[in-house]
Amino acid sequence: MKNKPVDIVIIGGGVIGTSIAYQLSKDPSISITLIDIKKPGNASQASAGGLWAIGESVGLGCGVIFFKTLSKRRQENNRKPTIERPHQLPPFFFDFCLRSNDLFPDLWKELKEIGGIDFKLEKTGLKFIMYDNDDIEYARNIYDSIPHLKDQMEWVDSKQLAKEEPFINKDAIGALTFLKDDQVNPYLLMNAFRDASRVQGVNMIQGEVNDIKVVNRKVEAVSVGQNQIPCNMVINAAGAWATDIGNMVGVSLPITPVKGQVLLSEKMPKILKSCISTSDCYIAQKDNGEILIGSTTENKGFDTSTSYEQLRGLAEGATKAIPILKTMNCKRTWAGLRPGTPDEVPILGPVKGLTGYLNACGHFRTGILTSAITARMINDLVHGTSPEIDITPFLIDRFRACLNTI
Ligand SMILES: Cc1cc2nc3c(=O)[nH]c(=O)nc-3n(C[C@H](O)[C@H](O)[C@H](O)COP(=O)(O)OP(=O)(O)OC[C@H]3O[C@@H](n4cnc5c(N)ncnc54)[C@H](O)[C@@H]3O)c2cc1C
Repeated sequence: MKNKPVDIVIIGGGVIGTSIAYQLSKDPSISITLIDIKKPGNASQASAGGLWAIGESVGLGCGVIFFKTLSKRRQENNRKPTIERPHQLPPFFFDFCLRSNDLFPDLWKELKEIGGIDFKLEKTGLKFIMYDNDDIEYARNIYDSIPHLKDQMEWVDSKQLAKEEPFINKDAIGALTFLKDDQVNPYLLMNAFRDASRVQGVNMIQGEVNDIKVVNRKVEAVSVGQNQIPCNMVINAAGAWATDIGNMVGVSLPITPVKGQVLLSEKMPKILKSCISTSDCYIAQKDNGEILIGSTTENKGFDTSTSYEQLRGLAEGATKAIPILKTMNCKRTWAGLRPGTPDEVPILGPVKGLTGYLNACGHFRTGILTSAITARMINDLVHGTSPEIDITPFLIDRFRACLNTI
């Protein structure tokens, strides 16, 4: 069945697809359809909701946990670590994250007003807790590597830490606080984008895109089952499944699923003011009192099972940081699939030689945080204006070999 033509089809209704839908829907002259099927492990619903702009860019959160697991494994095998510290992202990525972070207060107001959903933006800050000299050296290196951001960081000694966060282990010798690294409820953020988009006229279809028609290197239509939707442009926001969509238009995307396991407690009285990062785990008390403990970094394909060994590692790290968590009841565990890229940077924008197609994928471990700026950049590209951040380092062109298939 052939449907009415639309201007833009967005494939994927996670935080990236819905944020783009919302931004584009501000222009009433564009007709937009968003197509989504919820595949197991979709990342936005699995996320911690951290807006850890500096933290994630310097390799805290999942980065430092992954680094520690790797180092431990290599030591057990009597091998030296191959890397000295967690991977720090390039300066343009800091800018991307920081600008996105700055957009959240206004976004919170807009989305609440338009769709009625409060996505719970909380000014928490993120604290990296230090227990020993290695931690101090690691934190010192972070601090020294970004001198232009010193006003967004604060050293906290053990006395001050005990005052600010009385439930943190008394063995902690201090913390480095990232003052503007806050948090949201990711589930509500996605729903807020979705509802505001709907109010502004975006058509939502629940279904799986199984084909894209390309004629003379121009996208012409998208198929969902037997339904064909003619369109002028497709935006690939299919998360860890973006490679499948790329293949439909002859673009081979280097995106792979990266599994992250998470533990969630029952609601607890407020025990944390900040989000916490250690080299074992991160801990965030959400707006409703539940405590989220994350997360592993595993290359296990599309496997979304959870495992005792990995969850125990996270729980041990969390109870070391906050001993009272030994008394918590675990409500739920899950695993989500981050859309990983080889350089941990998203893939955004057009593909040379292909008209009517934009990438908006590969957001790996910062898609909640960077959803806001991604949507603005894609909106600029759709309207033919230059994005507020240079798109060049985000283009697929940086992986030359992937373009062979066009
Ligand atoms: C455990 C964990 C913790 C995280 N914590 C944070 C954090 O604290 N802060 C942060 O910023 N980021 C975090 N992330 C990363 C963040 O969640 C992701 O970067 C982000 O959610 C990616 O969003 P997305 O919309 O690209 O992908 P998704 O949310 O996976 O959405 C893609 C959607 O496309 C759908 N889809 C796929 N194929 C098709 C098809 N053929 N047809 C139709 N629909 C299709 C999928 O089913 C899915 O619904 C975390 C991720 C995990 C797993």
